[in-house]
Amino acid sequence: MLRTVANSTDQPSRAAVAAATGLTRATVSALVDDLIAGGLLTEVAPAPRTGAGRPAAGLALTSAGPAGLGLEINVDYLAACVVDLTGALRQRFVEHADQRPAGAAQALAALGRLAARARLAAEADGLIVAGAALAVPGLVTGDGLVRVAPNLGWQDVDAPALLRATPELADLPVTVDNEANLAALGELRVAGGDPTFLYVSGEVGIGAGLVLGGDLYRGVRGWSGEIGHVTVFPDGRACRCGAHGCLEQYAGQEALPGDEALAARALGIALAAVVNLLDVPVIVLGGAYAPYFGRLREGIEAELERRVLTSALAPVTLRVAALGADAAMRGAADTVIRAVRDDPAAWLRRP
Ligand SMILES: [Zn+2]
Repeated sequence: MLRTVANSTDQPSRAAVAAATGLTRATVSALVDDLIAGGLLTEVAPAPRTGAGRPAAGLALTSAGPAGLGLEINVDYLAACVVDLTGALRQRFVEHADQRPAGAAQALAALGRLAARARLAAEADGLIVAGAALAVPGLVTGDGLVRVAPNLGWQDVDAPALLRATPELADLPVTVDNEANLAALGELRVAGGDPTFLYVSGEVGIGAGLVLGGDLYRGVRGWSGEIGHVTVFPDGRACRCGAHGCLEQYAGQEALPGDEALAARALGIALAAVVNLLDVPVIVLGGAYAPYFGRLREGIEAELERRVLTSALAPVTLRVAALGADAAMRGAADTVIRAVRDDPAAWLRRP
């Protein structure tokens, strides 16, 4: 029922929710009362109506209840945001600094302080932070362990435990996911993007999130999307990973300003391989690519046109991320909100 209200384009009445869910009016009314008492739904005054009959009050998600804390750590910045149940951005903090020299414990302590500021500001604004989700540029296991984040120099980092060492966060559930995956989910859910696309996130490394028919494809162990290590020039520059000619050596954030034409060509070569293999109709460029998009576009499209077998039949759509550089933290915050929306009973039962 909550999802029916959330997905509705207007503010449906109790009768409209009953019709959409197939529940009886009495059941809907009882559930609505619980959800209003629990601070998840709010009743909105009806628009004045001319003619006969008393207009019904509409239902909407509340913007004063549970909220999601979205966090991101990347090579050169820390970020925290708070998003309310309606999906609106309520707090946003970004701190630019090279995170590599600090090491995992110090970097996550600094992110913890930023997250605590975001949480306190949100709670002063009437929100209740339900949990936190962290985006990292690395390979993450299901329990939140960062197995390896090569460009941060991290290995086997228990990110949730280090974040919860900040006293203001000690009580929060914390999940961790790859930043390109979360950015792809942000693009899909928050910005309402196409159901099938490849999201490419340019940072110092390059990650990709593959969304197929509205679902994120993670690979068998959750490690798909390492497009930064696709070979574009086999005898090319040495990469951190031990191989030569990886995409990130030409189109990573640190290589980009040197030769944008070469970056575009390398991206086009790698993306053409993806499209030939998977028949993905849309490619979204995000992260550090957002400000470069206008200058990269032509070069990438030229390679796609040259190398994708079906490009004459159906050109690939290349576009910039709707959420810009915020996609990963917005996607992270959205996973927290979505958990509340998908299981409101668990939220209402919380101690
Ligand atoms: Zn590599």
